[in-house]
Amino acid sequence: MATLKPSFTVSPPNSNPIRFGCFPPQCFLRVPKPPCLRQRLVFPRFRRTIGGGGGGLIRCELPDFHLSATATIGVSTVISVDQVQIPKGEMWSVHKFGGTCVGNSQRIRNVAEVIINDNSERKLVVVSAMSKVTDMMYDLIRKAQSRDDSYLSALEAVLEKHRLTARDLLDGDDLASFLSHLHNDISNLKAMLRAIYIAGHASESFSDFVAGHGELWSAQMLSYVVRKTGLECKWMDTRDVLIVNPTSSNQVDPDFGESEKRLDKWFSLNPSKIIIATGFIASTPQNIPTTLKRDGSDFSAAIMGALLRARQVTIWTDVDGVYSADPRKVNEAVILQTLSYQEAWEMSYFGANVLHPRTIIPVMRYNIPIVIRNIFNLSAPGTIICQPPEDDYDLKLTTPVKGFATIDNLALINVEGTGMAGVPGTASDIFGCVKDVGANVIMISQASSEHSVCFAVPEKEVNAVSEALRSRFSEALQAGRLSQIEVIPNCSILAAVGQKMASTPGVSCTLFSALAKANINVRAISQGCSEYNVTVVIKREDSVKALRAVHSRFFLSRTTLAVGIIGPGLIGATLLDQLRDQAAVLKQEFNIDLRVMGITGSKTMLLSDIGIDLSRWRELLNEKGTEANMDKFTQQVHGNHFIPNSVLVDCTADSAIASHYYDWLRKGIHVITPNKKANSGPLDQYLKLRDLQRKSYTHYFYEATVGAGLPIISTLRGLLETGDKILRIEGICSGTLSYLFNNFVGDRSFSEVVAEAKNAGFTEPDPRDDLSGTDVARKVIILARESGLKLDLSDLPIRSLVPEPLKGCTSAEEFMEKLPQYDGDLAKERLEAENSGEVLRYVGVVDAVNQKGTVELRRYKKEHPFAQLAGSDNIIAFTTTRYKDHPLIVRGPGAGAQVTAGGIFSDILRLASYLGAPS
Ligand code: ADP
Ligand code: ASP
Ligand code: MG
Repeated sequence: MATLKPSFTVSPPNSNPIRFGCFPPQCFLRVPKPPCLRQRLVFPRFRRTIGGGGGGLIRCELPDFHLSATATIGVSTVISVDQVQIPKGEMWSVHKFGGTCVGNSQRIRNVAEVIINDNSERKLVVVSAMSKVTDMMYDLIRKAQSRDDSYLSALEAVLEKHRLTARDLLDGDDLASFLSHLHNDISNLKAMLRAIYIAGHASESFSDFVAGHGELWSAQMLSYVVRKTGLECKWMDTRDVLIVNPTSSNQVDPDFGESEKRLDKWFSLNPSKIIIATGFIASTPQNIPTTLKRDGSDFSAAIMGALLRARQVTIWTDVDGVYSADPRKVNEAVILQTLSYQEAWEMSYFGANVLHPRTIIPVMRYNIPIVIRNIFNLSAPGTIICQPPEDDYDLKLTTPVKGFATIDNLALINVEGTGMAGVPGTASDIFGCVKDVGANVIMISQASSEHSVCFAVPEKEVNAVSEALRSRFSEALQAGRLSQIEVIPNCSILAAVGQKMASTPGVSCTLFSALAKANINVRAISQGCSEYNVTVVIKREDSVKALRAVHSRFFLSRTTLAVGIIGPGLIGATLLDQLRDQAAVLKQEFNIDLRVMGITGSKTMLLSDIGIDLSRWRELLNEKGTEANMDKFTQQVHGNHFIPNSVLVDCTADSAIASHYYDWLRKGIHVITPNKKANSGPLDQYLKLRDLQRKSYTHYFYEATVGAGLPIISTLRGLLETGDKILRIEGICSGTLSYLFNNFVGDRSFSEVVAEAKNAGFTEPDPRDDLSGTDVARKVIILARESGLKLDLSDLPIRSLVPEPLKGCTSAEEFMEKLPQYDGDLAKERLEAENSGEVLRYVGVVDAVNQKGTVELRRYKKEHPFAQLAGSDNIIAFTTTRYKDHPLIVRGPGAGAQVTAGGIFSDILRLASYLGAPS
């Protein structure tokens, strides 16, 4: 209690009121007893009379500093003024506006409006410096201490920024008063920076003093703007109120008791229903200016909220709330409606810089909710951080993982050796060392065998830590009790956060399988007992990819796939149209989100960051297409987007494209193709490709290489995987050749049927490409290799239907013209077959028993299934140990754009299901 002896002597009864003292407008008057004294104090402006017999403590709120009092007693009275306690509780709402919210004059006006529109009884508003200003201030210090003269022009820029903003916002006395403060501050700063320049060094308190000016200026400007609207409002230099104790780890701990006292004192002198307070800055108990360290304004707001026991703390920023992952890295991130205090803390600790990690503790003590809101989108409700009710039904329905965050620029230190097992105190020695160098341990993992302890520290601290450890454990290293102290640089931490993880089995499994599918190696793992988070250490370069992979696994449709289509020819185009027609159903019913990120032909390509609008892909390719470039294309589909799983679909028949598969698979890109070139190319390359694909977590599907959409490869795989043994595969696997022999009947000549097929578009432009048998041979090779045979194309005897002399024809036309000359040979063969009740069929054969393959014109009985075909159907018969007497037969249309594209599409869906899509 401050006792204020008023500067008056009490007048005799009924004397005129006298002026006394300069009281703060809200005060307690302690009027001493004895009760026998009659006292009467009159406050004319307040129109209130107090006293009248009693003494004691009378609380009154006075609208004016200057009071008059009439004492109607004849003895002198000592009036004491108690320091006022600031009212606390629900009537207060606390707001914090981040740097971008007050980034320019228009934004400052918007902020003022938000403040005015909050109809809480009392408001305390914490502001950051205008955006970039704190960086500019630190830059001034850096420049000055490295004796770089340009600190002067940089300071000028700071002055100019604020001067311009103030001129835009204020006028008259307000402007003059602000500018006078600003100039005064700048000239003090100039002197201080000069001192730093001369010393070539800035102490922490010098730096803190300089850095905190941004908040001083933004708070003053905002308070003028609010006051201009007619509302009473005071600005608070929080260095007068917030008292913090520095700790060893570049942090400060608030002294709540002292801060509370100072807040009361400040309020006694500056009572107001709207207070605009500086974020970020504070004082030590010795009144030395300091800061709450980078991004500390959130923390300031939380401390203020706690001191006032406020109803709510609203943190205004430039995003709609807390996202499930950093929206700058994962553009599919979703806004979280609610977070528990623990979840928010974990998210912020692990790098979600939307909230300073220390914001939670002060408000959690009093159960004060924090709401994160977007100043640029007032219609968004934001994220509420509070204590969820025990039995929150919504919580049960949501995914067990609330969000993901990453911390980059870390290094792992691995201390390893058999001498650690069972030796008490090793961990304490290790972490004692780390503490001694002042490094911050971000996560720890120890194998239960106790052979190794590994932990993550910021990259910039790793050398000091490893040196300290090496020196501390030099004996143990020499004696071999410790085998190594290994530093693994360039690491990142990925944390999955969620309160429900504790009670949900399988979360880690899903997390790790998502990482595995994205081809990401995990270096270390840690899960605290609270199970609010699971933390993994990965390579720095994998950080964003990992974030996207796990995020999409938990938050997006189960499977989001970035698709790149190579070759928008007949088949590619049909596939794109099928994707277009089916996309919505896949997304809705099967949780599969297919995004075509690129389409490339040989000359032009079309790229997109979010997925090409497939209803317009043709126009877009024409209008917006750029020069085709396979590297850029691959990078776009695989690297430069927010979807972790990518697949390239090669719809060409080009061996140059097929030569990229190895590289794509190695990068973790899945490959799907109807192109036979890779699987029927040189054996060693094929084996290398398959080996890589099996070892990596990438998938390579090529169902449409044989029999278009017919399930031939998958049937064969099914047989093999379940332990059946392939004896023989025999089939008509060329639609063209099927057509030719199905129609080579009666008195028709072979050349006539070829001409008919060519005219109907059933053959390649040059029918020799079909008749040579190479296409069938490639299919035989594919089936043979799939069955485990190590055959090359050159090992296959192929019956070519191109007469030897016509191989050299220079054009298809010439070939067609001359073909009738050779009709005799095939007519003869057909006649011989017919005479035995048989037909001719052009087939491919895999003879697994004798490890051979052939492509030949064989004769089949008229009752044989191969003789019953119509049109261009394919038929494949699998003779196996299980299907020995009656082969397993797959039959149906095996050519044509629709069915081939359908086969590719079903491979894409197979890939999606391998990646976790529900069935
Ligand atoms: P302010 O200046 O308002 O304090 P910050 O830059 O400190 O703003 O924090 C807001 C930024 O945090 C957002 O613009 C966003 O890019 C980033 N951020 C990182 N992780 C998240 C997340 N999980 N949710 C929301 N924002 C995030
Ligand atoms: N202005 C300070 C900073 O940029 C504090 C804050 O905005 O939170 O670090
Ligand atoms: Mg911030």
